Amino acid sequence: MRRSADVVIIGAGVTGAALAYELARRGIRDVLVLERAFPCSGATGRCGGGIRQQFTTPHNIRLAMESVKRYETLSEELGVDIEFIQGGYLILAETEREREAQRQAVALQNELGLPSRLLTPREAKEVLPLLDETTIVGATYCPTDAHANPFRVVEGYLARARERGVALEKFTPVVNLEVKGGRIVRVRTCRGDVVPGVVVNAAGAWSGEIARMAGVELPNRPIRHEIAITEPVEFFMEVMVISIHNGIYFSQTVEGQIIGGIGDPEEKPGYDVSSSLGFLRRYARELLRYVPALGQLAVLRQWAGLYDVTPDAQPILGPTPGLENLIQANGYSGHGFMIAPKVAELLADYIEKDVVSEELACLSLSRFMGEVKGEAFVVG
Ligand SMILES: Cc1cc2nc3c(=O)[nH]c(=O)nc-3n(C[C@H](O)[C@H](O)[C@H](O)COP(=O)(O)OP(=O)(O)OC[C@H]3O[C@@H](n4cnc5c(N)ncnc54)[C@H](O)[C@@H]3O)c2cc1C
Repeated sequence: MRRSADVVIIGAGVTGAALAYELARRGIRDVLVLERAFPCSGATGRCGGGIRQQFTTPHNIRLAMESVKRYETLSEELGVDIEFIQGGYLILAETEREREAQRQAVALQNELGLPSRLLTPREAKEVLPLLDETTIVGATYCPTDAHANPFRVVEGYLARARERGVALEKFTPVVNLEVKGGRIVRVRTCRGDVVPGVVVNAAGAWSGEIARMAGVELPNRPIRHEIAITEPVEFFMEVMVISIHNGIYFSQTVEGQIIGGIGDPEEKPGYDVSSSLGFLRRYARELLRYVPALGQLAVLRQWAGLYDVTPDAQPILGPTPGLENLIQANGYSGHGFMIAPKVAELLADYIEKDVVSEELACLSLSRFMGEVKGEAFVVG
């Protein structure tokens, strides 16, 4: 293992993988990715793969729009089929209050150039013919939203990064960070120490633990989210569906399986990733309310992963006040896969040229020192 590196990235989920690739593409090749287990062993390998741009804050909308542009050509760029399906996202609303929130969101999204629009229940049924449109008061739809396979994305990013000289060390947990004179001077791992130029905290739900090793407190909290996949059926839905009423989301993979989940507002912060029958009951009940025909399908597998949630449901990106060489890339609050390509570009620009984009400035850790106004649509 290298004993020094210009950039040490902690975590080989989509964040770490995309950043390693972006750095290598810019000619920064002395990059070491340290992964406690194996790539995709965190939230990335457990996620729903949804890629949506219909958010309620300008930063999330812009980051997602720019990321979709990259996702559209990523299979070609990485030489790996990422199973990108651009069938749009249908967001369901069941109350007038939710409808009003959608009106405001669409107005902001359209202002920023996103082609999202409000749909009546009947129009929503045209997008998803199996939908029981009597369950909703309306929906929004954006045809350029999409979904893809997270494993393929990470595989592609890492393969192309490693070809350019990036080193990946699997089963190498970071166990401590030694700080001297306002810098991290040593990254301690179970396989020896590394002297870093900069250190990137891309450890997802464990980013709080990493920051604490350097004496920094992050506001992120790990929250369990459960998810399930059914047996495959003939492909019938390109669209990904979510509801702001109950937090359900579901889509169909290229193999024909229905993959989806639903958040639990009662879930307490913690590292539990066990599966529960309660989730399966609740998810099935809500899913069948919207699309009764799916009741014929058998669930093949269920699992859980951790959302890395910040108080405003937006990521923490960029420099750390008081520690000049620690960069944060975490706090994605359930939508890190969809914005990873653009975030990686912004962080690579910062590391390469010291350019602090508007997004990095607004999404820095220091924002939690003031009043916080956040993202309202936290679903898959
Ligand atoms: C059920 C579920 C569904 C989701 N659905 C979606 C969706 O549809 N769309 C979307 O955009 N997002 C979704 N998300 C969120 C998304 O998965 C995450 O935001 C994203 O994957 C975060 O990627 P990451 O690389 O930052 O973190 P992770 O993928 O968690 O990677 C962090 C890595 O750091 C490693 N690590 C931790 N500690 C250490 C250490 N001490 N030393 C070395 N390595 C360490 C871990 O092993 C892990 O591999 C979902 C999440 C879940 C759980």
